[in-house]
Parts: sequence; structure tokens; C-alpha cells
Amino acid sequence: MYSTRTRLTTAYAGLLFATMIVFSAALYFGRRVSAHDELAIRARQQALLVLQAIVNAQENGRVLTVVANNPLSGPVIQSTKAMGDVLDRVPGFFLVLDRQDRLLYSSSTLQLYTHTDQDTVYNAGRALLVDGLPTEVPLTGDPQLSTRLLLQAVSDTATGPSISRVVAGVPTSTADLAPQLLIGTMFLLAPVVLLISLAAAYYLAGRAFKPVDLLINEVEAITDGRSLHRRLPTENADDELGRLAETLNRMIARLQASFGALRRFTADASHELKTPLTVLRADVERAMHPGTPQADRLVALEESMQEITRMADLVDSLLTLARADEGRFDLHREAIHLEPIVRDVTETASILGEEAGITVALPLVEDAVVLGDAARLRQLFLNLLTNAIKYTPRGGRVEMTLSHRNNNAVAFAVRDTGLGISAADLPYVFERFWRADRVRSRASERGGFGLGLAIAQWIVQAHGGTLTVQSRLGRGSVFTVLLPMLIQPDAPPAPDAGTDEAPEA
Ligand code: ADP
Repeated sequence: MYSTRTRLTTAYAGLLFATMIVFSAALYFGRRVSAHDELAIRARQQALLVLQAIVNAQENGRVLTVVANNPLSGPVIQSTKAMGDVLDRVPGFFLVLDRQDRLLYSSSTLQLYTHTDQDTVYNAGRALLVDGLPTEVPLTGDPQLSTRLLLQAVSDTATGPSISRVVAGVPTSTADLAPQLLIGTMFLLAPVVLLISLAAAYYLAGRAFKPVDLLINEVEAITDGRSLHRRLPTENADDELGRLAETLNRMIARLQASFGALRRFTADASHELKTPLTVLRADVERAMHPGTPQADRLVALEESMQEITRMADLVDSLLTLARADEGRFDLHREAIHLEPIVRDVTETASILGEEAGITVALPLVEDAVVLGDAARLRQLFLNLLTNAIKYTPRGGRVEMTLSHRNNNAVAFAVRDTGLGISAADLPYVFERFWRADRVRSRASERGGFGLGLAIAQWIVQAHGGTLTVQSRLGRGSVFTVLLPMLIQPDAPPAPDAGTDEAPEA
């Protein structure tokens, strides 16, 4: 394939060439027509000149024609020697015809032509209308190398009854010459103009594409993977290239963000797996050691079991998030009542709360029907509840409410009087592997992986809802899930199980 620059140049030069051809053709034909008109005027002037000469001579008393009596054909008009004397001095090609269209005089220049040509001219002149359109006759033996003669006829009553008209001719060679000269010039000029315009077009196209070339080089340098922090220069933000650079910059920023997230995710995931594996290895080694007493061995195995469960949980969470990222939500959506689910999780939470010395209450329940996956919603509510219990010290209180909002949404809120989250940390709580205080949360056996809220948020979003948090450090937090409500609980259930679109409220 040719480069855009070459293609532009060729297209431009082709266009220019075509324009030149059309322009030259128009000029050529225009010139020919006007030259032809000029010839007709010149022929007429020539004829008028001859007429004038005849009239002048007659006024001076010279006799130019006589009527001779021919015994066979009757009276015949003949030119006198005086006509020859008068008209020989007038230059140019012309004929003088009598009233029967017979030749009275033929100019000396015309007599230089062959007889055939002279006959052609005479015949054409006879047929010409006085003051009518001119005619052109071809010549074969032209001593002046003109191939055609343009004829024009004029008459004047002042010449008397014998002379009917004067026919004058002008060689077309002069008129043909100008357009031919034009063509010659064009043929000579065309390659030069074409070459110059090609060069100019190539140069201009090159200049126009230079910034694109620069942009390509910059993008190549940036997208090698290690320079994603760099950005393209956007000098002129209004032109196309400036806008392209800005668009690319936004794309690079998104790439940088997602590459960063991917790197962090991989690092975090491996880190999270490394710790339980280390513990597991130590436990197994301890259990295998011949000197380890039986009771210690059992303790080691139990600890191993705990670590294995932890790892299984982590892998489970990772798998859920990976599936969510891929868009393969295994949601089985149907119209469901939320109240039974909320009551069920409250029961579980009460048991957990009792163990942790925390009061769990459910002061307000307004049932609502949503289009959702019961198991996932249960997981979501439980996630928020266990967090509230986990991050609330002994003697605290956890409260849940299920209430209608604006007729078309239902809110599930979990309020605790626990540790709370600092304002600086709030923006990060839904990020994967984020924990307010990694060391503390693991050491104090609250230890999650920081994936629970990420999964919770995915579940909410997959249901077309929102998950928000309000919190103050040391005062407690409120997590609120807003879900679109099905307006008509009697409406037929969702068409397909596993649809991943937000339900229509
Ligand atoms: P984890 O498994 O660590 O609980 P989450 O994603 O559920 O992971 O929570 C992320 C972090 O958000 C927690 O480590 C904790 O610091 C903070 N957090 C979540 N819920 C609460 C809450 N109710 N009160 C205080 N902090 C919370």
C-alpha cells in the first residue's frame, strides 16, 4: 500500500492535470470561435474596400463594364481594361461578379491558385448570399500554405446594375495559428506545471502529516508499557490533531489506571495467599515432626484446616470477582420479597452478635418486591452485617432497617456504633484488598481480605442499585443499599434467569 502522503499527492496532481486539460480545451475552442469571427469581419472589410475602389473609379468617370452583344447568347457584361487597372492595385483575395453571377474580375493573388481551387472559390462565391453568413472553402494547391479560405459577399447599389457583388476571402491560416500555438504552449507547459505541482503537493502533504508522524512516534514510545505515565503534547487543542492527542491521552490514562489496578490486584492476591501458605507449611512440618506430641499435632492440623478454609474463601471471592469482571454474572433473577431474606440474615447476625457481645436489632421492616437473585442478595446483606459486627467493639449496637424510598426504591441500611472509617479512608473502602488497617485487622482475628465490600458493590450494581457509606471514625458507620423496586408485585417474573441487565424500576 502507498502512504497517505503519496496517495494525496497523486490525487492532487491528477485533479490539477484534469483541470488543466479542461481549461485548455475551453480556451482552445473559445479562441477558435473568436478567431473565426474576426476572419469574417476582415473578409467583409476587404470586400467593402474593393466595392469602395469600384465606386470611386466610377465616380471619377471611369468605365469598368461594357455590354457586348453576343450573337449566340445575347447581351453579355464584360469588364474593361480600366477595371483591371483599378482593381489590380487592391491587395487581397477577391472576385467581382456580374448580375448573372458571372466572373468579371478575379484578383491576382487568387489567380495564383490552381484552376480547380479557383473554380471552387468561384462556385462558393456565386452561392453566397449578400451580407449572409460567411463560408469556408478548402484549397488543395495553396501557395500560401493555407488550407482554407473564408469567403464573405457584399454589394452596393452605387456600383450600378452590372456588378452584382464582390466576394472577398481571407485565408484561415492566421486564425488557425493562434489556437494551435495555444495547444503547443500547453503541451510544452503541461509537464512542467505537473512536475512543479507534484513536488508542491508532496511537500505540502508531508508538512501536513509531519505532526501525525510525530504523534505516532510518541504513542509508540508511550505504549511500550513502561511509559504509561507520559502524555502526548497537545499544543493546539482546537484542531483535529490536538483533539486526537487529547483522546489518546484519555485512553492512555485509562490504560494506566487499569494496568495499575491489575498489578496491584495480582500483588495483593499473591500476598494474601502467601501468608496462609506459610502458616500451613509450618503447621504441616510441625505435625510431621516425629518429636511432636500427639496433642500438639492435632492443634497443628486444626490450624492447617483453618488456613485451608481461609484460602478457599479467598479463592472463592477472587473467582466471584473475576466472573463479575468478565460479565459472566451467574444471577438467577426473579421477583422476590425482601422481608424474609432480611429476617433470615438478622437471625444469623443475632447469633454472631451474641458471641461478640453486640446487640442486633431490626426496628423497621417494610416489605418490598425486587427483581433479584435471592442468594446473592442474602450474601450482600450478610456481608454488611458481619462487617458491622466485626468492626464494632463489645457492648456496641448494630441496627438494620428495610424501608421504601420515593415509591420506586427500597433501602436496606446497616447502622453500627463501631470503629467507623476515617474521611480519608472512605473513598477506598470498596476497592479490592483494601482494609483500614491491615495489620490490626488480621492480628485481631477480624481478618477479612478486603474483598467483601468489593463483592457487595458488584452485587448491588448487578441489580441496578447503589451502595453508599457514611461513617465517622470512632462513632460508627451506616452502609445503605438502594435497590429498584418492582412497582407491580403481581407482574410476571423475570423472563430469563441469569440476565445481567439492570431491572426496570
Ligand atoms: P474485610 O474482609 O476486611 O472486612 P471488606 O471489603 O468487607 O473487607 O471491608 C474493607 C474494609 O473496610 C475493612 O477492612 C474495614 O477496614 C472497613 N470496614 C468495612 N465495614 C466497616 C464497618 N462497618 N465499620 C468500620 N470499618 C469497616
